[in-house]
Amino acid sequence: METQTPPGVTLTLSEARDLAFRVLRHNGCDAENAGAVADNMMEAERDICAAHGLFRLPWHVKSLRCGKTNGQAKPRLEQLASGVVRLHGDRGFAPLGHRVGLPILVERARENGIAALAYVDMYHVGALWPEVEALARNGMVALAFTPSFPYVAPAGGTKPLYGTNPIAFGWPRPDQPPLVFDQASAAMARGDVMIAAREGRQVPEGSGIDVDGRPTSDPEAILKGAQLAFGGYKGAALAMMVELLAGPLIGEFLSFEAQQDDGGAGAAPHGGELILALEPGRFGDPDGFAAHGERLFAAIAAQKGARLPGARRLANRERTLKDGIVVPKGLHDSILATMDRG
Ligand code: NDP
Repeated sequence: METQTPPGVTLTLSEARDLAFRVLRHNGCDAENAGAVADNMMEAERDICAAHGLFRLPWHVKSLRCGKTNGQAKPRLEQLASGVVRLHGDRGFAPLGHRVGLPILVERARENGIAALAYVDMYHVGALWPEVEALARNGMVALAFTPSFPYVAPAGGTKPLYGTNPIAFGWPRPDQPPLVFDQASAAMARGDVMIAAREGRQVPEGSGIDVDGRPTSDPEAILKGAQLAFGGYKGAALAMMVELLAGPLIGEFLSFEAQQDDGGAGAAPHGGELILALEPGRFGDPDGFAAHGERLFAAIAAQKGARLPGARRLANRERTLKDGIVVPKGLHDSILATMDRG
């Protein structure tokens, strides 16, 4: 069956950024917070990661208007050990804290060989690749983890418990963009299930179950029931690991606790993120690691049908920088509607 592309509004990337900035300013963000979130959304649009671009703007507005998220946040650093830094987000959206915390994380990893950023008291609804890509561009091997709200059933269970819990990895490469992968531990990211529901599309089998625990491809039924982890119990174990690393380890909420904290306000999830940086020059093969890694990438690329993770995003990036993006008209209208009152 032919799917109909919804009508859209074409924007340059700077127009998209400006739209996000104006909406956030209008709804209570100061210029620093609005700028960091708008840049982050523009990057998601640029790489055609629609679920983390302007699509999330109405949710940001709701989070601000209900008073849960602080649009004037002033993220603050606290040194816990030579290689462990705690970043207090002051109930703000994650991107401003990344601006404050990532340079310090790089500094500490250079000193110690490895360093961790325990980012707490913030609202993360974006993709994780921007932070690991930024670290890898600074020569770091990087990992990032964050929970969200309970959307995913544990292996064998039928009720939502884990967040969609992404894991991102960045690896620096000589003379080219870093190798980055960033994947939910759910079979599908929540935003993609929501977009499928909005567009009336079915989702692949294995994405989720209905309220009675029956497998379904209907995104509406999954949103009422539960999503599933990718790869059965293996993906569920990774989802559990993310809960522990970015929750109890750093003194932050588990996904179901974040939902209790929300109390029905409908804001974004309040919680933490753990970001790790490894200085590859300090792990025993400072002169050879990069070329050695390239041997693996060359072997992947040599196989017909195989590609490196991140290649789709980088190709999109080149294209949208020239051609701009198309925002579905319904989404564009709903974004403009968020400026209807102060
Ligand atoms: P995808 O399944 O689309 O992609 C996951 C990764 O696999 C990407 O790095 C992708 O690279 C790579 N990939 C895809 N296809 C191939 C292939 N054929 N060969 C090699 N690599 C491939 O992403 P998800 O739906 O799992 O996650 C989407 C986003 O949602 C992530 O950015 C994640 O951070 C975000 N998220 C955020 C949450 C939050 O609470 N903040 C919660 C859950 C998810 P490429 O991009 O180049 O295709």
